[in-house]
Amino acid sequence: MSGLALGLHGGCGTLDRSLMSEAEWAEARDHIAGALSAGWSVLKAGGAALDAVQATIMVLEDSPHFNAGHGAALTEASTHELDASIMDGATRAAGAVCATTRIRNPITAARALLDGGQVLMLTGPAADRFAEKAGLAMVEPSYFTTQRRVDTLAGLKRRAAEGTSSKASEAEKHGTVGAVARDAKGHLAAGTSTGGFNNKPVGRVGDSPIIGAGTYARDGVCAVSCTGMGEYFIRNVAAYDVAARIIYGGARLEDAAGTLVHDVIASHGIGAGMIALGATGDPVAPFNTLGMYRGWVGSDGEMVVATHQELFRRGQAA
Ligand code: ASP
Repeated sequence: MSGLALGLHGGCGTLDRSLMSEAEWAEARDHIAGALSAGWSVLKAGGAALDAVQATIMVLEDSPHFNAGHGAALTEASTHELDASIMDGATRAAGAVCATTRIRNPITAARALLDGGQVLMLTGPAADRFAEKAGLAMVEPSYFTTQRRVDTLAGLKRRAAEGTSSKASEAEKHGTVGAVARDAKGHLAAGTSTGGFNNKPVGRVGDSPIIGAGTYARDGVCAVSCTGMGEYFIRNVAAYDVAARIIYGGARLEDAAGTLVHDVIASHGIGAGMIALGATGDPVAPFNTLGMYRGWVGSDGEMVVATHQELFRRGQAA
């Protein structure tokens, strides 16, 4: 279907290949494909880019393989504080939540705020209360915890005690999920959801719920969702900077996104990645780490899933 496009990332903190079994890697790839199918079926049925982004992110939030929703990172206090945002490129309406602890799918709360059209962002207990009142699915915080995250936190605390924190891998440190979509009317949307970085201080908020930093969408320009140490994406207003390079500098999407990841953010010496989509064409997914969980369905309808360098072609999206 011409014009339709969908892309996602599952974070630039991809595990080293040796750290999961082949069966686990296959499952992570299946979950990426499942997320793409969920978003693509919305677009194919004539649905809005915004709905496709939300549907895609919800599947990733439900998967234990990614740092968002179930399987989210733990704070230094072994708790979860989840952040999410979503933006409609057609109206530039947006919604965001940060430091939520009980909303099963934080992206649904961000979306409910967007739909409300007034308050853009709610934090902590206020976000939880808003979601509960809106009838969204709520869970006990333990729902988000997986053994892998418990082990990762213990490893990071060990490193801190030994003074080897700087040797932690990208996978030990962080992750995030995000999606971008273009619908049949040419509207763009972007969304991002995360547990933040492992062992983060309680109360720390990263770029993912900050419009313009971790998430941005504007019709006719681009839709962007970022991953990597959020502090640097906020400092560089990264997602909006991709748009600004296109709007004011006439840059091509792949050059604008590539410059942000490989030059601007990389100049801080940190791992970074993003999924970005333009007014036309297929998504681009630059990253400067070992790998980035990612996938897309392009204008030819072909689904591509990837974790490290190689791409797995999944045939036509259903
Ligand atoms: N951007 C996320 C944050 O800083 C983490 C990540 O993508 O790895 O909270």
